[in-house]
Order: sequence, then C-alpha cells, then structure tokens
Amino acid sequence: MSVTPLTRRPLRCAVAVAAALGAVVLALPPAASAASAEPGNCPVKDDPSWSGWTDYAQLTEELDQIEQTSKGRVQVDVAGRTTQGRDLYAARVGTGDRVLLVTSAIHGNERTGTEALLGILKDLGSSDDAATHQLLSEVTLVAMPMVNPDGGELNRRINVRSWDETLAQFPQLAGAPRAWYHSLTGDGIAQPGYDLNRDFNPDLDYTPRAADLPGQQTDAGFFLSPESRAIRDTYTALRDEKGAVDAYIDLHHMGPCERITGGPQDGKLVTVSLDYPPLGVNDGAKYKKDWPKLDQDKSRRYAVTVANGIADAFGSQSRLASTARYLHPDTREYAGQGRSAFALNGTGTVLFEVRGQQDDLGQAQKGMFVKAVRTGVESLLGGLASGTADTVDGDTFFQLPDYGWETTAD
Ligand SMILES: [Zn+2]
Repeated sequence: MSVTPLTRRPLRCAVAVAAALGAVVLALPPAASAASAEPGNCPVKDDPSWSGWTDYAQLTEELDQIEQTSKGRVQVDVAGRTTQGRDLYAARVGTGDRVLLVTSAIHGNERTGTEALLGILKDLGSSDDAATHQLLSEVTLVAMPMVNPDGGELNRRINVRSWDETLAQFPQLAGAPRAWYHSLTGDGIAQPGYDLNRDFNPDLDYTPRAADLPGQQTDAGFFLSPESRAIRDTYTALRDEKGAVDAYIDLHHMGPCERITGGPQDGKLVTVSLDYPPLGVNDGAKYKKDWPKLDQDKSRRYAVTVANGIADAFGSQSRLASTARYLHPDTREYAGQGRSAFALNGTGTVLFEVRGQQDDLGQAQKGMFVKAVRTGVESLLGGLASGTADTVDGDTFFQLPDYGWETTAD
C-alpha cells in the first residue's frame, strides 16, 4: 500500500477524543495535538516501518507454538473471522474462578499489547514454579492479542468492511444512514471500515435496527463488525461458563508527546495512562437504573492495582512507572466502547493507553512500553488471585497525575 506520509498520519485515541469533545479541544494544551510533536526529546516519525512488530502471520505461528509447548495448558480458539477472512484468536490459560479478558490492537496500529500478551501467554504456558501454578489455579485468563488484524495489516486504526458488506449481513438496515463510526477511508487508505471501539452495546443480545442509525458517540454501538461480535461472544461465553467476567482490559496507544503533570514524575513523558469507563456525568448515574451492576469504583480499583503493580515492580521514579490518568473530563461519554458495555454488565474494566504509536516512534522504546503493559496486566492477574484488587481504595485512582487536561478541560 503506497501512501504519502502526510496522509498516513494516524488518528490517535487522544486526538479523536479531543475532537469529539468540541469546545474542549480548544482548551487543551498544545501537547495534546499531533502538530505539537516536536523533535528533540520527543522524536516522532511520520511513517516508519513496523516490520519489528508482530504481524498476523507471526501471531498465528507464535500462538501455535505457545499452545504446543504448553502441553495443553494454553488453549487457542478461533473466536471469529474478519471480513477479509483472518482468524480472531482467543488464547486461554488458567482454571481459576477469577476471570480476566484482555483484548489488544482493536485499533490496528496500536501494537504493544500484542507483544505483551504473547509474552504473558508464553510464560504462563511453560513456567513450572509454584507461584505460576498457584496463580493458574486462582485465575482464568483469556487473551485476544490481535482483534483487528485486517486494520493491523494496513497499519491503520479502523478495520476493513464496507457498508454494502454490512447490509448483506443485516438487510434490515437497507436505506438507513451509515453508522456514525463507519468511515470510507482510514489513515489515508481509501478502504472503508469501522472504528471497532465504538461498535459495542451493553445489551449483549442487541440486533441492529435501522431506526437506531446513525447514532452518535454518546449512544451504544450496533455490533456491525465480526471483530466486535467475536469479542462480545467470547465475553458472554466466559460469563455463562464462569458466572462472571470479573475484569476486562483493553490495550491501546495514545499521542506521542504527553507529559506528566504533578507527582514524583512531574514533566516526564507519559509511559502508560489508565482509565475507567467514560459514562458521562455523575459517574454514569443515568445508566444505573437500567444497568444496576455498573460499579465504576471497581474499575478504578483495578486500575489502581495496575498502577501500583507497575510502581512496585520498577520503583515510582522509573520511566516504566510514569503512569497517568487518561483524558477523562466528567462529561466524557463513550457508551459504544467495549469497556463501557462490559462495565454496564458488572465487569471492572481498565483502559491502557501507551504513549505513541509505532507510526510515531517506530521501535524506539518498544521494549520499555511492552514491559510496562505486561507488568500492568500481570499486576491485575495477581491482584485478582490474591484479592487485593478488591480491597484497594478506588479513590486513590484520582491521585494519579494527569497530563495537563484536568485544569483545562472544564
Ligand atoms: Zn486506540
């Protein structure tokens, strides 16, 4: 695919959020826009090679190897198939009652989570120490390390799926406007697709209806893509089998140059930022009548568990522990995100946003970012197993520093 660097500029999670917030974008500090990406100690590139990152073929091979080496401990299932025919893998390890589902690369060009999950699966599948066996008796981990491989192979955010293909599957939508999160082009590549992280509905049995289209950011999504449906199906099967999915982590990337505001790492570049579900004012109060299982504090407890685990592993001054709160003004509302839909069903959900995408940073700092993500996921696994994730004070989430948005976004 030949595209110019100019049109290849990726839409980052944070930028997309800021644009959707309208007036708020004007008040954000310059560091929140792609235009502020400066050379020097925050070097960025326009279109570096991503050959150093795991692609779909390598993922397939690696998962096969992990499954074989584990001698039955890791089970790799095909949870669905993309529009272009790629398998969507769900790898499962552990037999415990505490259940963690993790998805990565739902935005195809956000890749550190894929590497982190492969590392975790490899270790949990082959380590024979007592601590590993103990952990696997307490938790069940289902990892979906690449849930948008069609987008990933194009190194872009959205998946690949036309509106005609959507109508062929859901003929009842004929004549309705396209869903608001369906685009005709993505990251400069003129192939249509969906922002998959807007395609979720808390009604997990939802069937697409013409009257609900096109929808908007504060509405639930419509499960119009095979990728989001595969994640939904994996979630509901786990819930039905185990009684509940305790936790869900969604692994992403944000803009490349954000700096911590306040705390022991004031002024340092963010390594990873964390969030609980964005469900509007008063902590999602308007949802609680219809979705009584919503527990925003549970999501914050799990996020705190992640942040504490990273700081404990590396020390609070470590660059790996340069952890922030992700952009989340009170009014922020993204009902169609997977983490929102699953939270409304009672799961504690944590968003990871690693600083910079491979489009900006290439492989620079890849090892550090992957290690931070991996340690964060492992921290929640450990916290679920020991129970500390349930008892930590969720309010301490608000003591994590932001990156300059708190005082300017109101
Ligand atoms: Zn993302």
